[in-house]
Amino acid sequence: MWLRECPFDDQGLLRPVLPLAVMCDSCGSVWCTPDDAAFEDRVAVPEAPDWTACGRSFAPGSTRWATREDVDQAGWGGHPWHEEAS
Ligand SMILES: [Zn+2]
Repeated sequence: MWLRECPFDDQGLLRPVLPLAVMCDSCGSVWCTPDDAAFEDRVAVPEAPDWTACGRSFAPGSTRWATREDVDQAGWGGHPWHEEAS
């Protein structure tokens, strides 16, 4: 599932990720919440060595894409998520 197209690259989609945030699947830009993701200037870019954004670590290999269940549990289910075409 994804929320919107990335404002910073041509092909990225902003997807829910764990630890809980919204992340571009192409460039790795992070927004702390779906509401923040509506604003380009609220972006946070996790970078080495600590990969911290939104007070959490997004080190490569330590994150996974969130499921619909994860999103609902987070109280983010009401945002206009797009489901994957399957
Ligand atoms: Zn991107």
